[in-house]
Amino acid sequence: MRLLLTGSAGFIGSHLAAHFLNGGHEVVGVDNYLSGQLANTERLLGRPGFSFLQADVSAGLPDVGGPLDWVLHFASPASPPHYQQFPVETLMVGAQGTQHALNLAERHGARFLLASTSEVYGDPLVHPQPETYWGHVNPNGLRSCYDEAKRYAEALTMAYHRARGLDTRIIRIFNTYGPHMRADDGRVVTNFINQALAGEPLTVQGDGQQTRSFQYVSDLIRGVARLMDVTYHDPVNLGGTDAITMLRFAEVVRALVNPDLPIRFVPLAADDPRQRQPDITVARRLLGWAPEVSLDDGLRRTAAYFRHAAAAPPPTPARPGPGRPSDRAPA
Ligand code: NAD
Ligand code: UDP
Repeated sequence: MRLLLTGSAGFIGSHLAAHFLNGGHEVVGVDNYLSGQLANTERLLGRPGFSFLQADVSAGLPDVGGPLDWVLHFASPASPPHYQQFPVETLMVGAQGTQHALNLAERHGARFLLASTSEVYGDPLVHPQPETYWGHVNPNGLRSCYDEAKRYAEALTMAYHRARGLDTRIIRIFNTYGPHMRADDGRVVTNFINQALAGEPLTVQGDGQQTRSFQYVSDLIRGVARLMDVTYHDPVNLGGTDAITMLRFAEVVRALVNPDLPIRFVPLAADDPRQRQPDITVARRLLGWAPEVSLDDGLRRTAAYFRHAAAAPPPTPARPGPGRPSDRAPA
């Protein structure tokens, strides 16, 4: 098979690309390095079957030539500090970017997958969240550029499916972590691990009683691959099933990496969801899928990666892309 993957220089995109290359498929990666890493592309370049196009998906997707069996749309900043630094770009890639990717799939008669998010549930009033829950989202707050872009992207994907017969899939990804995230991406996993490795206090936001459910990246990749092989067009939650408070999570990371560190309480970000945990009944039934990697195991592997990365020479900076701030480091 030959597939086109947007967001291939990102954390999840680079794992997905490697997974499909391992399976003997051809992968055309597309990225503009808005929040991705050149190192992720460099790991893939040179592998048989991989080619890369530096382009802004929101501006259009050039025809890549040859057949395409699948189009997987993963391009979008995902870390709150990243998407809040680039709110317009985030809305554009969820809206125009998704439409360009859908049009490309339609032109090629390809199967299409949208990477959506648990953020479509906003600050949920139903817990845990099943796919049938419509969410509780601030439509114009600081997180709206991401939440509403993904809600629109889901609506657009369903419209292409219903009105034009496109063969679509939608996954709602819950907090995912692992090697090849950016150390500076500002998400809680990378912050705590890198603070612990540097011997700095762990910054718990608010009272730390808000919850998240973490999944290790290999579990997510397994779920994505399974969903592509079944016929199902409604959204599917993929996420870890054990909710944990951020204070407890800081204690877990500290115990694994550096037990002597203090915890520092810092202000809570605006509109931070109080609780998040997927109901994965659909994924269990449809895909026979459930997370397999424990939090301790996943965190050990991730900490080992960052320990090694910190000891390595600094990565080559990304070259500026066409019309996009490709080598700017988000806050
Ligand atoms: P990431 O920031 O590491 O990767 C996203 C990639 O998309 C980056 O390489 C970035 O440069 C690229 N990109 C952004 N805008 C682009 C554009 N206009 N044109 C081309 N490339 C563009 O984030 P990630 O964690 O790997 O997330 C990947 C996808 O999964 C995103 O769509 C995100 O919304 C979704 N998701 C991730 C999580 C998670 O916990 N990691 C949770 C929910 C949803
Ligand atoms: N968080 C924290 N300390 C940090 C970064 C984040 O306590 O240094 C909290 C944040 O308030 C949120 C949770 O961790 O409740 C998850 O944040 P993240 O940015 O990883 O992703 P989100 O799930 O909010 O999209």
